[in-house]
Amino acid sequence: MPENSAISLKNIHKSFGDLEVLKGIDLQAHEHDVISIIGSSGSGKSTFLRCINLLETPTEGEIWITGEKLALSRGKSGDLESADHKQLAHLRSRVGFVFQNFNLWPHKTLIENVIEGPTQVLGQSKDQAVAYAEELLAKVGLSERKDFYPSQLSGGQQQRVAIARTLAMDPQVLLFDEPTSALDPELVGEVLGVMRDLACEGRTMLIVTHEMAFAREVSNKIMFLHQGQVEEFGSPEQVFENPTSERCREFLSTIY
Ligand code: ADP
Ligand code: MG
Repeated sequence: MPENSAISLKNIHKSFGDLEVLKGIDLQAHEHDVISIIGSSGSGKSTFLRCINLLETPTEGEIWITGEKLALSRGKSGDLESADHKQLAHLRSRVGFVFQNFNLWPHKTLIENVIEGPTQVLGQSKDQAVAYAEELLAKVGLSERKDFYPSQLSGGQQQRVAIARTLAMDPQVLLFDEPTSALDPELVGEVLGVMRDLACEGRTMLIVTHEMAFAREVSNKIMFLHQGQVEEFGSPEQVFENPTSERCREFLSTIY
């Protein structure tokens, strides 16, 4: 039942013009689930993740967050239309998104990046937001850099700030879209370390990743997407050791 889930996606479809990228995806994440989404480039992983917090509007389907269904209206074509501004702000405070390319504000310091959402969207006082931001920057190991600008940091450090910024909104669900694939190899570990800590804290997370060893270690469920459909879904042991799908087997043999 969607009512018992942290997040529940039902029959998500997405087309770009004539191209049907998502062909009816269902996924339920319970509280504390860490679900890794794997699959070849172009299989629809990012589009699926972006549909969840309406960075893309699904053409069809339902999104439930902690038992509450997002109300999406239909346009003239019959397709779903994006939510209004207030609804979007509410959704994005509950569902945090960490991007491949960090998306920090370059003209703001780290602490300013982290307090922007809480002060502008949640209406927190600056003092309150700064106190929490300092705590979060400490958590990702960047207390000493709080007055630096993003360009003064490595990619790994920037991604850790981006994670702190997302946590500042106290989201119930965290979405990560290939958070380490823009990083030099030697910087991947520090970001995965922060994500591992979040998983250990019991955060509900959906992670698109090509880091198979990490996915296997931290996830309790793995979803393999192929051409916009869920081709395999199960525990890490089942998916990595004994996949039922031949395509999943082939994919894993090329990457893992
Ligand atoms: P993945 O993240 O698994 O690599 P994507 O979700 O990015 O896959 O893309 C799935 C397909 O959707 C690809 O064929 C891609 O070209 C297409 N696509 C993604 N975004 C758009 C868009 N904004 N407009 C048109 N096509 C898109
Ligand atoms: Mg992608």
